Amino acid sequence: MKNRFIRYAIFFFASLALFSCSNNEYEEDYNTNVDIAEGIPVITALASKPLPENLQCTMYIFWKSATDTENEYALKEIKILENTAQNKLKFMNNELENKTYRFLFVATPSSTKEIELVKSDENNLQIGDKWEDLMIRSFDPIVSADNYQGFVDKTGTEILNGKTINCTLSRLVGQIIFDIYKILKEGNTTVSQDVSLPHFTVLDRVYKIEIEYSDLTKGVVYNNDNEIIHQSLWNDSYKQTIEPKLYENEIPWFRNFKVNASQPVTNLTFSEEKNGSAHIKGIYCMPSNENLKIKMTFYYYDTTPLCENTEHIHSKYCYTYLDTYNNTQFLPSICGIAEHTHMNSCYKDGVLICTKEVHIHRVGCYDIDPVCGMNEYVYTSDCFTKKFIVLNLPKKDATPLSVIPNHYTLNTAKIRYDRIIDVGANFSFEFDTAWKNDNN
Ligand SMILES: [Zn+2]
Ligand SMILES: [Zn+2]
Ligand SMILES: [Zn+2]
Ligand SMILES: [Zn+2]
Repeated sequence: MKNRFIRYAIFFFASLALFSCSNNEYEEDYNTNVDIAEGIPVITALASKPLPENLQCTMYIFWKSATDTENEYALKEIKILENTAQNKLKFMNNELENKTYRFLFVATPSSTKEIELVKSDENNLQIGDKWEDLMIRSFDPIVSADNYQGFVDKTGTEILNGKTINCTLSRLVGQIIFDIYKILKEGNTTVSQDVSLPHFTVLDRVYKIEIEYSDLTKGVVYNNDNEIIHQSLWNDSYKQTIEPKLYENEIPWFRNFKVNASQPVTNLTFSEEKNGSAHIKGIYCMPSNENLKIKMTFYYYDTTPLCENTEHIHSKYCYTYLDTYNNTQFLPSICGIAEHTHMNSCYKDGVLICTKEVHIHRVGCYDIDPVCGMNEYVYTSDCFTKKFIVLNLPKKDATPLSVIPNHYTLNTAKIRYDRIIDVGANFSFEFDTAWKNDNN
């Protein structure tokens, strides 16, 4: 818990540092040619790029007497910025004397507004409302990545001197990510590993993952240090469902119930650097200060069949004979095709790059009867009990998760088996949480 707090603090100061750097840049941004009667240019951008055009940016202008404390900032005016034209803000000379201004920018998709500025009791804003009584509220428990905020302070004198109102916005929301790796313990360190055959991925046999998020943040405020902290919460939890595509009723049968990585699933990818490790994109949501709870349920087909049948498909191993030295030899097939099955190495970035034809010698490849003496049978989903493993994040009685603006909340599970279901059968596994900058 201590670690988590320290990480939080480090990331927070890192973002503060970034923020003040960009402010400094703009401090140099005098433009003595600006005629304040014509209006002062208002320029908003993200750290790395211009503000995307699909966003609507609203500017909230606050002011106070130069001698007042920060808490005295009161709402003076609200202005919706144009994306295409250059925005200019007009001032009256006499207004600027002995005043300090704060310009708050809130940007959200213009097609569907996802966040808005309201009073912290959720009532509508009114001119004269105090800075400390404001809250940025989301309209839904989950939001998209495209929600930004930022503010900049300018004194009346700076504005009189023709400084542009220039603000770098940063992403208000954070994203939850889950990574599941197979690891091997080497002494005191752990090394990530490829999932090894016959298994394909850590999610083999898992047909559904339900991720339930509760105590999601509804509204955030700026605290006395101008950090963004949660203020109000959603009552309802939000459930995200991810359904890995498993091979089923397939020949070759040994692929059945393994993840079919050639069929993409939204928010689920498998790592290329470590074969079979899973990367799950969780939701984007409003910032939270040690308050978010996540319950993950992995639904899977158990490995012990309910039926009495033995899985068997006739293959080249069913067409053999013993030579004069008592060695097993394959009987010749009549199909004239070489055997090939696509393996993980036949895919790159989830796309099949192998040009070989998939072929396993089957009954039809021979003009004689198999010698195995068995009947063909392939397990279907009806042959297995459906089970599930539940994981709570955090663990019972531990501190709930934080979501930091403009950061990924990265939950990494390192498992010492090839598949999650093998861990679950013995003992539960855990996620480690860390935060990584999102760079807009
Ligand atoms: Zn056979
Ligand atoms: Zn292949
Ligand atoms: Zn064949
Ligand atoms: Zn069966």
